[in-house]
Amino acid sequence: MDVIEKVKAAGIIGAGGAGFPTHVKLNSAPEFLIVNGAECEPLLRVDQQLGAMYAEELLETLETLRIMCGARKAMYGLKEKYHDAVDALNACVPKYPDVEIKMLRNTYPAGDEQVLVYETTGRVVPEGGIPIAVGAVVLNVETLYNISRAIRDVPVTEKFVTVGGAVKNPSTVKFPIGITIKEAIDYCGGPSVDGFAVIDGGPMMGKLTKPEMPITKTTKGLLVLPKDHSWIVAKGRDMGRMMRMAKISCCHCMLCTEVCPRNLLGHQLRPDKMMRLASYNTTAEKDASATEAFLCCECALCELGCVMGLQPWKLHQELKRRLGGLGIKNPHREAPKSARKFREFKLFPVQKLIRRVGMTAYDVPAPFRGAYEAAVKLVTLPLKQSLGAPSKPCVKEGDAVSKGDLVADIPEGALGSRLHSPIDGRVARLDDKSIAIETA
Ligand code: SF4
Ligand code: SF4
Repeated sequence: MDVIEKVKAAGIIGAGGAGFPTHVKLNSAPEFLIVNGAECEPLLRVDQQLGAMYAEELLETLETLRIMCGARKAMYGLKEKYHDAVDALNACVPKYPDVEIKMLRNTYPAGDEQVLVYETTGRVVPEGGIPIAVGAVVLNVETLYNISRAIRDVPVTEKFVTVGGAVKNPSTVKFPIGITIKEAIDYCGGPSVDGFAVIDGGPMMGKLTKPEMPITKTTKGLLVLPKDHSWIVAKGRDMGRMMRMAKISCCHCMLCTEVCPRNLLGHQLRPDKMMRLASYNTTAEKDASATEAFLCCECALCELGCVMGLQPWKLHQELKRRLGGLGIKNPHREAPKSARKFREFKLFPVQKLIRRVGMTAYDVPAPFRGAYEAAVKLVTLPLKQSLGAPSKPCVKEGDAVSKGDLVADIPEGALGSRLHSPIDGRVARLDDKSIAIETA
């Protein structure tokens, strides 16, 4: 079986959060293969530790993929401050003359695919485009780790997750996919506050979730915060209220646009104009259109740029949903030749970001504690964990399964990914949303 078939068989999807099926991504002929080790969301500690622990394995796999895809060069981008990973990777890289370690600054969102492609290759991905449009394929560190396992026929059944914030023992753990978020938090000592909320992901792009939800192939971080924490309150604010606030307080200062990473790359995304369009229904902005929302990566940096605490990203999210519902697609396809002139001076430092979101107290190490060792009684596998179609179950209730057995496949002719059992057990429940497997 070739590598792409093995990646497909192992059910690998982008582990950084996007969930794009990796076998599809690798089925291309890039000039550059880029590893995304930026881990730009503060408080997450997965990729930097994987880089330190598995440097040799990761670089060997990267070189295998580079040769397979025919890429001229492979690059591993990570921040200078990840000293252990930088040292481990630098020690191994001389063996691979076509692989380069690229140092990134401690700015947000250094791990946004388009920002990373620009920082490593100097090329700007066109509006509404993906990195292959400029000859690049980007893989997350954990995805690369999963590929190294897939080459040895090990499917994805576990997930590295940082459990941080207001927990007693912030840690990074390899959890079985499908256990609950509550079980993961309890494994890390439980919440250190009474009323708490949980963000699935980093503070910026992560979403509010519930303790009873399962860990999936895209869970990267679980951040526990007091439920009245200002950032939790802001995340939970509904769009209508935010837009009412915008009508009263948006002063059209353009600071949101000044910090916008996609605007800084030269894309015509102007959150200040979008806020004006939406809050006043104005026709003054003749050169602005609601479809600009399609260019937003929802990094939420505009919220930190805004002196009034407004949330243009939330407006964009809603617009994308509504326009998509009407069958309207992104019409913006400009391909800037270069980023904006003063981009370098407008990059947003992560330390400043951490202060602004009120998380300085939680910016602590979350060391890797190995694999989850508590007893697992039940796992729940959502059938939709990747982009594309939901996986199609190939087991029925009552079936006995072993760890690593295929339980759901890619529907014929569709984009999707496979699911495997994370435990030895029995299929306890099956519906159109998920498969539950309990220990026998
Ligand atoms: S979330 Fe805001 S800052 Fe980020 S890309 Fe969208 S508009 Fe720009
Ligand atoms: S930064 Fe805030 S106040 Fe200024 S234009 Fe943007 S949304 Fe309006």
